[in-house]
Amino acid sequence: MIGVRRNRNKDSPYTAKTPLTRVELHVHLDGSLRHETIYELALKKGLRLPGSGSFQDLKNYLVVKTPENLGTFLSRFDIILASIESDLKALERSAYEAVEDAANAGVIYFEARFCPHILIPLEVRSEADDEARTKWVYDVTDALIKGLIRGQADFKSKGNLIATSIRGLPQHWYEDTLTLVADSSFHGGRIVGVDIAALPDTHDEKSMLEDVAVSFFDRATKLGIRRTIHAGESGGPSQVTGALDLLHAERIGHGYRIVNDPNVYNRIKDEKIHLECCPWSSILTGSIPASDVPHPIVRFFEDDFNVSVNTDDPTITGTRMEDEYRLLSNWGLSEAHYVKATFNAARSCFLPETEKADLIQDISKTYGFTQ
Ligand SMILES: [Zn+2]
Repeated sequence: MIGVRRNRNKDSPYTAKTPLTRVELHVHLDGSLRHETIYELALKKGLRLPGSGSFQDLKNYLVVKTPENLGTFLSRFDIILASIESDLKALERSAYEAVEDAANAGVIYFEARFCPHILIPLEVRSEADDEARTKWVYDVTDALIKGLIRGQADFKSKGNLIATSIRGLPQHWYEDTLTLVADSSFHGGRIVGVDIAALPDTHDEKSMLEDVAVSFFDRATKLGIRRTIHAGESGGPSQVTGALDLLHAERIGHGYRIVNDPNVYNRIKDEKIHLECCPWSSILTGSIPASDVPHPIVRFFEDDFNVSVNTDDPTITGTRMEDEYRLLSNWGLSEAHYVKATFNAARSCFLPETEKADLIQDISKTYGFTQ
């Protein structure tokens, strides 16, 4: 999988090649669409566009520039989802473009989250029509996988999927998700784990520990399905403890607010639980006030946590990996930290052990650590 991609900097007379040395574990596929693609699809579908209906007004609406709260941050998904929902061609294209964008950002491997149920037609999401709903769940997943495979062939970056459930939503969504992820003969190992996340109206982490979620993660664990959970972003340290003890999380998405409880902080550090940190997102969602110094991510690095750097939702943060590193550099971190983060991510990814060893070997070679 070793390779390089040309960095597309239009302002530069020479476009340097970006080595594929990064690993990204926390990025939402539907939060990674190009603004240009959303605009094209929205126009074609006659969707109501913000402002004057221009591309620039759409981009201004989608990209959050100043801190908000998680609910308003996520509200951008209304037009993003409307542009791809029930559209298998658009979904395949989105996955393909996500691989190209990852490669251009130097990412050799990423795990992209998706919730199949918010990509299928509204009228089949209920419990009433099991057959049609399940077929759609499989179809949208198949389209994404096709895009990832096609992208990998063209750009040498590999993307797998993590199936996300949404807090506070119906039990049959959880059931479908478990069936889908357990069906490896269908997805060929491309869905490597499960997660639970939020939509604008379910951004309160309290509903994360509801019975249906506990049962889902219990069964996923017994089936050997890998688990990562959004926690400690809009909620406190107890949500992180709940994710670990009740939902059997192996990795935590975000987790910044563990700084508010020394016991939880030390547990995550001592047990080397992987924290998928998203610097810009943490500020823009209001999870951590920009005035909080040092930012928890800086503390995590200084205290040698098992931590990685991720973009979360590049469509909304307006960032790619290098922008995230630039922000961290402003906070005093350096390339050595980013290399460490890459290896933390590679070791904590949900690839099977032999593929993981190959990935680590490939990155080591590209860095020049091994021949
Ligand atoms: Zn996320």
